[in-house]
Amino acid sequence: MSNTTTTSAGKVRINRYPLLRKLLIGFIVISLLNLIISYCFYTPKLFSIDNQNRELIIKYNILQDRIRTLESKIDDIHYRDISVYRSLFSVDTLAIDGIYNPYPESKYAALQGDEYTSLMTSSWKSLDNLARKTYAASLSLDQLQILAKNKERMSFAIPAIWPIDRTQLEWFYSFGMRAKHPIYRTRKMHKGVDLSCKRGVPVYATGDAIVEMTDKGLRRRGYGQQVLLNHEFGYQTRYAHLNKIYVKEGDRVSRGQLIGEVGSTGGSTGPHLHYEVIYMGRHVNPVNYFNRNMTSEEYKQLMEKMKTNTDLEIE
Ligand SMILES: [Zn+2]
Repeated sequence: MSNTTTTSAGKVRINRYPLLRKLLIGFIVISLLNLIISYCFYTPKLFSIDNQNRELIIKYNILQDRIRTLESKIDDIHYRDISVYRSLFSVDTLAIDGIYNPYPESKYAALQGDEYTSLMTSSWKSLDNLARKTYAASLSLDQLQILAKNKERMSFAIPAIWPIDRTQLEWFYSFGMRAKHPIYRTRKMHKGVDLSCKRGVPVYATGDAIVEMTDKGLRRRGYGQQVLLNHEFGYQTRYAHLNKIYVKEGDRVSRGQLIGEVGSTGGSTGPHLHYEVIYMGRHVNPVNYFNRNMTSEEYKQLMEKMKTNTDLEIE
């Protein structure tokens, strides 16, 4: 029994061996053919991958175009920033050292190594450039926002209105060199304007300010009872010869706020408000500030009320 089994098993091995060999050879031949065909000709799968690649490149190029469009938009914003907005606030161009310097090539080393390198690297470089410009533009806008707030504050601070109700004005004596001082007979500078009106006429702050100084001025010379306001941005205003003062040093006052009453204290011979505007430590003509809202007719009427000589003040 055991012999038969051995013989039949041996037969099986002998019979099957050429078949296996044929299969093996067949397999190798088919593989080689497949390799040669796939190398020389596209298979459907390769076709599809190749098509996808082509589409990706097209999409990448579209993306690059969009990056370039964004770059030109941000360049336009940058141009408007330096030539319009910043010049509006009289500030220099924002300078950040090296902000526009490209990154070193080593940053893009990881992208090297295939036929798409130049496509990838140029896109990354464009995006980095865009990021730098956007950062600079946003910093500049932050600065401008602060400046705009200051500008608004400044527009409220500048002494731009009349310190008394204009209809109460009887006559006024102008700013500048006096014709001749009525008492001392010398030519002296009149540092403000004298607004002649009735005693007790309300006196208003001409712009937002902090009360820098109040003076009881008990002497019978000089400014008498006075208020000096500090408007910041280089402006101060003085209201002198007052009858009453309604504010104290350190108070914050806003434009149009009642600060006192017209009187005739100090070196004064009749009720009037002596009003000064000081810019950067120099006295300037107040009329140039409070005539801004006047029509030419109103200005003409004002000029008719101007006196060139007065004995209102004793200095
Ligand atoms: Zn005066």
